[in-house]
Amino acid sequence: MGKCAWDVVADRLIWVEDGVAGLPGGLADGRYACLACWESVMLSGYKPDAMISPYFRHQNGADCADLERERQADAEMKVVIQLRDWVRAIPGFTGTVEIVGEAKGGPSGLPPVVIAHCGDTTVAIERPGDHLPGPDAVRRRVRAAREHHGVERHVWFLKKDRDQFGQFGTHTVRLGGKDTVHDTLAPNEQQQAIIAAGGHVYWLDGKLVLVPYGIHRFRHSVRAGEDWTNWPRWRDPQDDWRISKPVPSPNADYWGLVPIPLTSMTRTRAVFHPAQAHQVMDELYAGQEGRYHWRRKHARELYAARNAPATPAAVAEAADAGQLIPPALPEQQGAVPEPPAAPDQTGLQVPNEPSDQSDSPAASPAPPDRTVSAPTPEPPSLPPTPPSPLPSAPPAAPPTAPPPPTVPVPPPYPPATPPAPLPEQRPRGLRGVLRRLLGGQ
Ligand SMILES: [Zn+2]
Repeated sequence: MGKCAWDVVADRLIWVEDGVAGLPGGLADGRYACLACWESVMLSGYKPDAMISPYFRHQNGADCADLERERQADAEMKVVIQLRDWVRAIPGFTGTVEIVGEAKGGPSGLPPVVIAHCGDTTVAIERPGDHLPGPDAVRRRVRAAREHHGVERHVWFLKKDRDQFGQFGTHTVRLGGKDTVHDTLAPNEQQQAIIAAGGHVYWLDGKLVLVPYGIHRFRHSVRAGEDWTNWPRWRDPQDDWRISKPVPSPNADYWGLVPIPLTSMTRTRAVFHPAQAHQVMDELYAGQEGRYHWRRKHARELYAARNAPATPAAVAEAADAGQLIPPALPEQQGAVPEPPAAPDQTGLQVPNEPSDQSDSPAASPAPPDRTVSAPTPEPPSLPPTPPSPLPSAPPAAPPTAPPPPTVPVPPPYPPATPPAPLPEQRPRGLRGVLRRLLGGQ
């Protein structure tokens, strides 16, 4: 017994709770197909005076050949119907549930998709179950939605899989002058296939949507006149990253995730477009040039300081103590003043790294130096005696920290700490439905 079937004549999905008025009952010449086993099923309880609710059953009273899948299909359909109703409740939207890109006899296992219209824009919204089908099915789906429904955006709202999320720990970035922690994950081939086909992959986390960008790790080269070694409070300044956006490039090492309120995706004309996340990515992109520049400059300054002619031993010692980061005077080769021996300065943690310096996935809860430095951002020049006690700087770390583990121990999964969700415009009842429906149940 199932609540949904595919009407192969009208090529549409039937959800009995939407009503079955006008539909022929019984087998109807094989008009109805089971979504689990794709056998023909019969519509029962369809008469207006029936004492039971309508439902579909297999022929001869048999059970579905895939009972578990049938039960699952009903449950997933229910979620999709709720999604459709949520979409319909957004002012200016219409929504229907469609079967797209499926071949009879070879079901992908994906629940039907919601096709939403808003003005001239058509968006396909997927809410798959726990598992995505293979890349071929995913590609077929995206292509079919575009061809048959004129879909411009095809968005996939996935459930968070803790195993997938835990693999690379978190990624600390510098946003608006503050350290911000982003979740990361290693995409699987289905997720990459969606993006390669022009779709968009998001994760739902309560009322938040997590929007991915690409993280590409690289090492800064060492040029003449630069010293990249033994930076006080740095684990490995040569280790850095760059971003690919607005969707991750296929060759990204892994993905970072920007959290935004789900409701923000339905407020603009470009519906289901994560504009807020793209702004964040733009900021990360803008920040990286400054970060690279700062590090290189610092490497030059350190080189100059450590190779100053006078009392090299003393200079090196002072530099190692973290006291010799000179003010930003690019032309001051060799003109480094004697470092003040103020003992309270040793904590001077690379104060003006302009952007994030979480050089690693920062998987360990308290990596010695990098989540650290909470650098004061913008002005690339360093005050001679940096007074700013970086607020989020943890206690001084040993300058000789071990290299970051490549596959760090997954940290406890922290709740995202996104910007406070904006006030919502949806009625409370719908919000509740939405939360249940998208929030991971
Ligand atoms: Zn069946």
